[in-house]
Amino acid sequence: MKRVLITGAAGFLGSHLCDRFINEGFYVIGMDNLITGDLKNIAHLFKNEHFEFYHHDVTKFVHVPGNLDYILHFASPASPIDYLKIPIQTLKVGSLGTHNLLGLAKAKNARILIASTSEVYGDPLIHPQTEYYYGNVNTIGPRGVYDEAKRFQESLTMAYHNFHGLETRIVRIFNTYGPRMRLNDGRVIPAFMGQALRGEDLTIFGDGNQTRSFCYVDDQIEGIFRLLMSDYHLPVNIGNPNEITINDFAKEIIQLTGTDQKIVYKPLPENDPLQRQPDTSLAKKILNWEAKTDRKTGLQKTFDYFKTLSAEELQKEEHKDFSKYIY
Ligand code: UDP
Repeated sequence: MKRVLITGAAGFLGSHLCDRFINEGFYVIGMDNLITGDLKNIAHLFKNEHFEFYHHDVTKFVHVPGNLDYILHFASPASPIDYLKIPIQTLKVGSLGTHNLLGLAKAKNARILIASTSEVYGDPLIHPQTEYYYGNVNTIGPRGVYDEAKRFQESLTMAYHNFHGLETRIVRIFNTYGPRMRLNDGRVIPAFMGQALRGEDLTIFGDGNQTRSFCYVDDQIEGIFRLLMSDYHLPVNIGNPNEITINDFAKEIIQLTGTDQKIVYKPLPENDPLQRQPDTSLAKKILNWEAKTDRKTGLQKTFDYFKTLSAEELQKEEHKDFSKYIY
């Protein structure tokens, strides 16, 4: 049985990856320090004899007994609000954490896939973003702690590949959504859905003309799985190129949730990218992969998930009004 270590296992993408690898017949070792992850995302796996969980912070030395075939490094805060609340942990997990996991991969002779991000492109000056674009990042801005940690992570990963001959893969993940996103992570989809369910106005940051391209989680996981199994070691964008303005997106949410929410405008956070759309032609060429789930279907599944949360959970103060964190 092949053995895989997944860091950030209790998080949104990490927990979906655990499910996927269990379903593919792997022995899965999940690891998480639970700063932003939640055990309820993997509670269903605890009875599985092919799953085990380590409560561990990967910025400290990582010890895993036995052999490992694959490592997927998905531990990291991943929303702009989280970077503001825990900036130093964000920098450490992308740098020190990645270093520990690359060292572990080398010791175990395992192939390692690193979760990178569209944020390496910063506020992009070319559109759509291809893997060949070097990015436009403000190192000292509020997002710099995430963007630069991920850029360093890519450099370190390439250095291990080139210097040690380690088998490495780098996925650049564009805005991904679906069940198990955290209601209070501050990102636009949980924010709008939480607001709709509480009967609050939807908060648009800035004038709402900024764009994003949203990828459903099942598509993202399929792309990551194919990349891990491929023989391509340079970064690959995985995302859905269907681009939409935040204004139009808010209207879609109102339509989907069947509510008559008003829209209120709040200040735009500093360095919030004006446009974002992945060029996924490389993924299509080398992985024969492209996003398949349309936004209507994906958003409906996501809303169905948020509807299962308890009223008590929905009303928690920490899940409301993220605009107070805007810098
Ligand atoms: N946004 C918004 N209202 C919210 C939360 C986010 O208008 O309540 C905007 C945010 O400013 C950004 C876009 O939605 O332009 C996507 O934000 P998100 O935090 O989901 O991810 P990002 O792509 O910026 O990392």
